[in-house]
Amino acid sequence: MDTNRNHLRIPLLFFLTCLLCMQSCTRKAEVLETSRLAEAYEQFREPGLTERRFGYATIAPLIESRSSLFENQILGKSVEGRPIHALTYGAGTRPVLLWSQMHGDESTATMALFDLFNFLEGSETDGFTDIRQAIRNELRIRFIPMVNPDGAERFQRRNALHIDLNRDAIRQSSPEAIILKTARDEFEPEFGFNLHDQNSYYNVSGTTNPATISVLAPAYNEAREVNPGREKAMKVIAGMRRVLQEEVPDHLGKYNDTFEPRAFGDNFQKWGTSTILIESGAFPNDPEKQYVRKLNFMIVLNALYEIATGTYDAFAMDDYLNIPDNSSRLMDLLIRNVSVTTAGHSYSTDIGLRRAARYTAERRYYRGTVSDWGDLSIYHGYEELDATGLTAIPGKVWEEEKPLEELSREEAIGLLRDGYLGVKTSTENTGKLHQLPLLVFSGDAPPNLEPSLENAPNFFLVKDQKYRYAIVNGYLIDLQNSEVDPFWQMIN
Ligand SMILES: [Zn+2]
Repeated sequence: MDTNRNHLRIPLLFFLTCLLCMQSCTRKAEVLETSRLAEAYEQFREPGLTERRFGYATIAPLIESRSSLFENQILGKSVEGRPIHALTYGAGTRPVLLWSQMHGDESTATMALFDLFNFLEGSETDGFTDIRQAIRNELRIRFIPMVNPDGAERFQRRNALHIDLNRDAIRQSSPEAIILKTARDEFEPEFGFNLHDQNSYYNVSGTTNPATISVLAPAYNEAREVNPGREKAMKVIAGMRRVLQEEVPDHLGKYNDTFEPRAFGDNFQKWGTSTILIESGAFPNDPEKQYVRKLNFMIVLNALYEIATGTYDAFAMDDYLNIPDNSSRLMDLLIRNVSVTTAGHSYSTDIGLRRAARYTAERRYYRGTVSDWGDLSIYHGYEELDATGLTAIPGKVWEEEKPLEELSREEAIGLLRDGYLGVKTSTENTGKLHQLPLLVFSGDAPPNLEPSLENAPNFFLVKDQKYRYAIVNGYLIDLQNSEVDPFWQMIN
């Protein structure tokens, strides 16, 4: 009897010790050093993706060339017949689903996922085996890198049926939304990553910094309650916050958690998946969002590692709740305290300018708009000018029609210094792009060059009857400085 009992006791003790050890091992797993995450990005960045705008044809070969570590599956096809792929990785049992670009013009995380695929295929001598092994042994990860390939083709938010897929989680009127919902139902992920981009005008509240990354553990009901699943998502986000605070302090914002009953993120949370929304915002002088891509890579890799090792559990819910909210108070150019005369009234105002991206088949260009007018003291600009003592006045139109190719940049600057802003060209140039710092128009009606909330931002700032600055298509040109950074504009 005694002997028997001892037999029982030894395995039991062994089992308990193992349990304790596993727990303490889990607890002892260290958070990843931010510098290692950055190094991993530099080593594994996918060189085939360098610009934000790309379609399915660009990623198709990058999917086909994956190693046997990935299982490649076509989940279905878009409205226009483009394949929607899932790549599955890992020998573990805990399912994690990441999906990107359900909005076709939100591609930053898609680029980062291909960097991550390269990382996950790395060699045993590259110094990152510990991270990979932890992930591979514990998790089963399914990536859907491009949910909306038709939208990506046009670089637009909606799909080919003009459906916003992120308002189609319940109604399921688009094949792409059905595919994503079916993927969830079949895979039943413990964690989900909902990957998007947000516009460049969000800032981190209380700062002038753009919200380069915004996050959210979406609510699963109107009351915005926190259940254990949502709490887990919050803690994983808290781990991402640690990395971002070290890499790029105070550029992280928290998205509004109002429950959106039609959206995928909110419903994933409701369906029992701990869901994390990542919104890629802007960073100064990063028009192709390559630095934001790096940040995505770093925080997604960090999150997968922390889920695999359990390290995320060491964070408190408050580490998430204390992330500052997103605010939308940025302008591309903010001109403060400028004197203007409107309908005979002279007064001082701020003028907020924004520039919206447009695309031709060849390139991106921007179209400036006056976004706001009045007291904009609560706003901030990526570029700001204190125009105290300066007066905004209309530009003049150069009456001679001149072939564009005969007009040099130097001549264009000379025209600006003489107060000319509009230049006429022949109608055959309509719709062409040019880089002259002038408003080139075709046809007989000259553009309205009056500074106003209603007009395109093309006017001058003068002091003592001297032309000091020109505003051309929302860009600020210092007329005392002959160096003008070129920008593209379209001829109307
Ligand atoms: Zn989106």
